[in-house]
Amino acid sequence: MTTTLDTMAARRIHVTGVVQGVGFRPFVYRLATTLGLTGWVRNESGEVQIHVEGRVEAVGRFVDALRSEAPPSARIGHVEAEPATVEDRTTFTVAPSTTTDGRQPIAPDSAICAACEAELLDPSNRRYRYPFITCTDCGPRFTIIDTLPYDRDRTSMRTFAQCAHCLEEYQSPGDRRYHSETNSCPACGPRIELHVPGLDEHVRETDTVLRRCVELLDAGRTLAIRGLGGFHLATDATSEAAVQRLRARKYREAKPLAVMVRDAGAARLLAHLSDDDCALLESPARPIVILPRRQGSPLATSVAPGLDSIGVVIAYTPLHILLLEAANRPLVMTSGNRSDEPIAIANADAFDRLADISDAFVLHDREILARYDDSVVRPTGAGPIVVRRARGYAPLPLRLPIPTPVPLVAVGPHLKNTFTLVHGDLAFVSQHIGDLDTIETLEHFHDALAATQRQFSIEPQAVVHDLHPGYMSSEVAVRLGLEPRVPVQHHHAHVAAVLAEHGRTGPVLGVAFDGVGLGVDGHVWGAEILVADLSGFERLVHLRYAPLPGGDRAARMPWRSALGYQSLDTDAPFGLAYEGVDVGERHAATWQLDKRFNAPLASSMGRLFDAAAAIIGLRRRSHYEGQAAMELEATAGRRPGSHIPLPVTDEAGPPWQWDPIHLLSELGAQALKGANRRDLAAAFHDSIAAGTVAGLVRAREHTGLTSVALGGGVFQNARLVTTLSETLNAAGFDVLLPHALSPNDGAISFGQAAIGAAQLRKES
Ligand code: ZN
Ligand code: ZN
Ligand code: FE
Repeated sequence: MTTTLDTMAARRIHVTGVVQGVGFRPFVYRLATTLGLTGWVRNESGEVQIHVEGRVEAVGRFVDALRSEAPPSARIGHVEAEPATVEDRTTFTVAPSTTTDGRQPIAPDSAICAACEAELLDPSNRRYRYPFITCTDCGPRFTIIDTLPYDRDRTSMRTFAQCAHCLEEYQSPGDRRYHSETNSCPACGPRIELHVPGLDEHVRETDTVLRRCVELLDAGRTLAIRGLGGFHLATDATSEAAVQRLRARKYREAKPLAVMVRDAGAARLLAHLSDDDCALLESPARPIVILPRRQGSPLATSVAPGLDSIGVVIAYTPLHILLLEAANRPLVMTSGNRSDEPIAIANADAFDRLADISDAFVLHDREILARYDDSVVRPTGAGPIVVRRARGYAPLPLRLPIPTPVPLVAVGPHLKNTFTLVHGDLAFVSQHIGDLDTIETLEHFHDALAATQRQFSIEPQAVVHDLHPGYMSSEVAVRLGLEPRVPVQHHHAHVAAVLAEHGRTGPVLGVAFDGVGLGVDGHVWGAEILVADLSGFERLVHLRYAPLPGGDRAARMPWRSALGYQSLDTDAPFGLAYEGVDVGERHAATWQLDKRFNAPLASSMGRLFDAAAAIIGLRRRSHYEGQAAMELEATAGRRPGSHIPLPVTDEAGPPWQWDPIHLLSELGAQALKGANRRDLAAAFHDSIAAGTVAGLVRAREHTGLTSVALGGGVFQNARLVTTLSETLNAAGFDVLLPHALSPNDGAISFGQAAIGAAQLRKES
């Protein structure tokens, strides 16, 4: 080199974030060698350290590119570059990994990357049509990891020894597969197998398997396919008969089914998508995205009956791509489970539990060590809302604004359960676990908790749980036997989850709208404005209490919610709500109301949506939780709604109350007069939004606070979220919405963790 010392520079660089298991070191190596720089890179104490030296200008470009050109799965935290001494190094080297802190985050499972996809479809590549092609940028991670640090020996890939060719890639610092722990090829890696029990047929050769799959799909059959985080059930999404057959066998009458397509082009034939939607569909997390359904699409009606939206996911594993290309049509791709149970992950488990549902099994021999459902995301006018956070996102940690003095576990709620493990300010929110109603789901909870504790070396010393003693999760919390044990009110947790996600501690005006949660007065809450911070809350506004005949059973019977409101005003014109309802059943419910037997007082926004759906004659019975509310939203579409007053009562407060009787009566009267149901559904939505703003204005006058956090399952309603955010912004409020986590009960454990940590910190 002819350069003189004053044109030379050296930097010592520290990079934090998700930089392990994502091909970061090979990326650094390639970047340095391309720019003609020398030095070294290594993993050290939970960060990546780099020494780089060479021409001043090249060093500057290197530092910039560390962030701007990082691998797709990396999430760069800080990049700190400090001046260092030029050591006259002649090469750039990758230092071997030292054992790292188990809590160092690594990237979650990722969809196949563009480079691997190109190789998969390239006849000249040695991995042409290989269903398990991966690299450091893509493929399975937490679904195959036993413990951290992330090394092949601690994953289910340990049973596949790399062939000489693969090993060479694994050991070459410049290779995309340098230290790719999932590296394999057709000669040395996992294999697929088709098993058709009815025909006693076993097929192993990839193309023969795919050809048989297409024949079975053509015949309207259902396939159980072993995927990344568990089994799917797949059938032809364009065949009404095939979809109905799957529904009948799965005992799933109406709940929408997700559809897998080959690529964004195929998604466009089924749904309307914006550029943002497209980016979300194609992102490495590759969630199911709920999109407006295209009129005249080839999808069978029974894929999502009664709804104007459709859940679409793009093929995210090499096997999915091969299958979708062979099938050349959208496929229903729904969880491989019987209703209410967790998805099957082991081959034997699938044979056992899915035998009555599926006609054939597409298996493979790469064991799934942790169960991860597909994630579900719904775009709104105020940004995407997470409906279910699992594969591709979990267990990427979030930061708590107030760190916990001792490691803790927050066990979450009873339905849509997740748990959160916290060490310091790092909060690992588990993947979606499910409703803790079955032994199988409870086992899934315990397995996932044990796995997450092991993976991140967290031994909790304190436990946080819901106030409701009857929740299975609360029982689990007691049985863990940890002290201190902190109970947290459900809606306080909803608000805290949103606050903490935004790095805030409050106080804030928290709007919690959901189905049900136990309040501190012993009644059922679910339509609340709280003033809250991470240590406490005060209830400012809530929906007027109405008895809920049948309690939890009312969630599946919207007419019961209507009947509860009817008991507050016997003259209210709610006649349409009871059409077709069995007379004996209605009498029994009326008796429950009269005797106040199993008719708890509730202030639930979810049940108010149910009541409205029944009263306008839209739905009196639901096949799944939230069906009435989802159909009410679909019915409203995007048409503007008239405003019917939802007044905040003027009596001394707080708490003040919204009285919905006038709103429901007006809807009922208009419905009986034959008004267009679409107009009524739109009016209901916009009236709720306007009433909420009025409640917040009252809360702002009382507290002087202008920040609003929106939490609770009702905020999965895209129309409500969009209208409410716009109106609140216009009224001078600053709106916090959940983005990393769901507004629904999937975020409760994180809210519990934030509150628990703050309370323990205060006491210590
Ligand atoms: Zn790849
Ligand atoms: Zn190989
Ligand atoms: Fe909730």
